[in-house]
Amino acid sequence: MLVEKNVSLQPYNTFGIVARAHALVRVRQPDDLLAVAELLAAQRRQIALSPRQRVAPELEPLVLGGGSNIVLTGDVRKLVLKIEIPGRRLVSEDEHGYLIEAGAGEKWHDFVAWTLEQGWPGLENLALIPGTVGAAPVQNIGAYGVELQDRFHSLDAIDLWTGQPLRLNASQCAFGYRDSVFKHHPPHLPDVAGRDSPSSPTLLAAGMGLAGRAVITRVRFWLPKPWKPVLGYADLERQMQTSGIHQPDARQIFDWVVEVRQQKLPNPQEIGNAGSFFKNPTVSPEQCDDIIAREPRIVHYPMPDGSIKLAAGWLIDACGWKGKSMGQAGVYPRQALVLVNLGKGEHSATGGEVMTLAKAIQTSVYERYGIRLEPEPVVV
Ligand SMILES: Cc1cc2nc3c(=O)[nH]c(=O)nc-3n(C[C@H](O)[C@H](O)[C@H](O)COP(=O)(O)OP(=O)(O)OC[C@H]3O[C@@H](n4cnc5c(N)ncnc54)[C@H](O)[C@@H]3O)c2cc1C
Repeated sequence: MLVEKNVSLQPYNTFGIVARAHALVRVRQPDDLLAVAELLAAQRRQIALSPRQRVAPELEPLVLGGGSNIVLTGDVRKLVLKIEIPGRRLVSEDEHGYLIEAGAGEKWHDFVAWTLEQGWPGLENLALIPGTVGAAPVQNIGAYGVELQDRFHSLDAIDLWTGQPLRLNASQCAFGYRDSVFKHHPPHLPDVAGRDSPSSPTLLAAGMGLAGRAVITRVRFWLPKPWKPVLGYADLERQMQTSGIHQPDARQIFDWVVEVRQQKLPNPQEIGNAGSFFKNPTVSPEQCDDIIAREPRIVHYPMPDGSIKLAAGWLIDACGWKGKSMGQAGVYPRQALVLVNLGKGEHSATGGEVMTLAKAIQTSVYERYGIRLEPEPVVV
């Protein structure tokens, strides 16, 4: 296991925040994680922890994919595991669909493009989302009416507490809106002999958190036949109207999604950002009626469970934040949901500036609408 010391993380986070990793290991195959698990086990023995107990958060490693959904608030003292596991393949095909597998280190957008080139449609609505395949299940990525869970089959991971391999299906991943079991930390389990092993299917099915503990190494996708387009989104409907193409194929939808995203979102290579900074909040119909009475134009969507989802970007814009800045952190003028790095290189925004701006936005939305906005990226 090669441990690189004092590594700049600025090229490895799309916000472009200046920070260093004290120690970084590049994971190029799942077995590389076994050496990491051994190292962590030695650490556990030193502090007399059993494999069932969680170490202090600052000792947990930081798993890093493409760094497009994190905010670094300073140098990282944890061991950084940079996931670079390659590989894409068709596992099987039958009359019902295609089963496809990709290594966790593959770039998500390149993987989507590749599936279409092979003639396996189904992921086109998720085009141009930055990051890696391995991180896609972590927040159940979603865009233009499709979520990862709609095309997910299963994944492989390594449990860093025990060194054991895990295979998880969709229900064990506990997918939700920008959420999964990988976003929640494991509880401290008392070390009672005879208890379920922490990686037992029973505990996983009970929604036990796996953040900082399970590293995803491979993900499998099920792309069903016959392919059906998902076109309900206003932006895609608009593309159909203007182009006059009313029965687009998957490649056409891919191209439209890329075009719309390029118009709406800043390219992280030019302006540092982590995409949507806040999740869209959900409220009860009564709360929504109350807000509509004051703000008849508020953008809202009814959800299947009866709750109402509000557009966080609309709320932020209504509080006057579009185009505002604090230090080198700013609110993107074309989309209030996106916070951006107004600086570059050494003069970049710091994680502290980004979080100060985020907190000021949260406070003003709460004071005006009584709604607490929750950040989408992981704050490290
Ligand atoms: C311009 C822009 C647009 C975006 N648009 C969207 C969008 O439309 N929809 C959407 O859902 N998201 C969007 N995002 C957010 C982001 O791209 C996704 O969340 C993406 O999946 C993050 O991938 P990553 O490899 O960069 O993860 P990272 O930022 O490196 O990591 C994110 C989290 O996942 C964990 N993680 C990463 N890899 C693994 C692994 N192999 N095993 C276990 N844990 C892991 C990390 O520890 C961290 O907690 C956007 C971001 C940007 C910058």
